[in-house]
Amino acid sequence: MADLAYLEGFPCPRRNEGGDREVAQEGLVAISDRLIFLDVETTGLDHQRDRIIEIFMLSLSKDGEVAEYETLINPQRPLPKEITEITGLTDADLKDAPVEAEVAPVVREFIGLGTPVAHNLQFDLRFLNAMFRRNNLLELGGAGIDTLTISRELFPRLAVYPGGGGSHRLSNLMYHFRLEGAYANAHRAREDVMLLVEVFRHLQDYASGRRALVYPEALIYGCPTCGAAMHVVEEQQGKVLVCRNESCQVRLVV
Ligand SMILES: [Zn+2]
Repeated sequence: MADLAYLEGFPCPRRNEGGDREVAQEGLVAISDRLIFLDVETTGLDHQRDRIIEIFMLSLSKDGEVAEYETLINPQRPLPKEITEITGLTDADLKDAPVEAEVAPVVREFIGLGTPVAHNLQFDLRFLNAMFRRNNLLELGGAGIDTLTISRELFPRLAVYPGGGGSHRLSNLMYHFRLEGAYANAHRAREDVMLLVEVFRHLQDYASGRRALVYPEALIYGCPTCGAAMHVVEEQQGKVLVCRNESCQVRLVV
């Protein structure tokens, strides 16, 4: 489980006065004593039109208290085929699940004054707040910890690993931190939150210097010649880092 003591001094995204995101490099951004690691699965990408179909939340308190909440939600509409392909969830799985009017108050109470943590947090917050609005519940503010933003700040030239998807996707971070043996990026809320907690911990360790730089540095800082991000390619002789800049073509054996 994540050690919340690590939070002291950890760089956390926050909004500056102009409304843009920035990373506070020092001090403690207002973080409550409780972190709520969360993930939602939805019927699509539009937070107004689409609906949440699954939520998993893991609450970790500074005093060591751990709680979790998980539910499926019946979206009262057929699931798009792509969503079944991504999540494995079907209409049959959701038909006996509670509807959002039953779930929303419980979710809101569970979060309480906790600080939400998610990968691409604004996506989850938009869906949660739309649900809270429809059910006359107090919305969450925009504050929270976004591991996607933190990863981009820490590793601006992060290498792309085989099977990792986009460079800062949870799946790519899973490969980067060598977590693929223990976790799956399954696009199911519980599995993704468990992976999120572990990725968060690795980001904390890295940010605070507790973890040595991943060798070679090009994995994080990009091509030593041109600075572009690298691809990790598996070849017969082992892993090779290939510069993504086609006119550069630097190759490094990892
Ligand atoms: Zn290059």
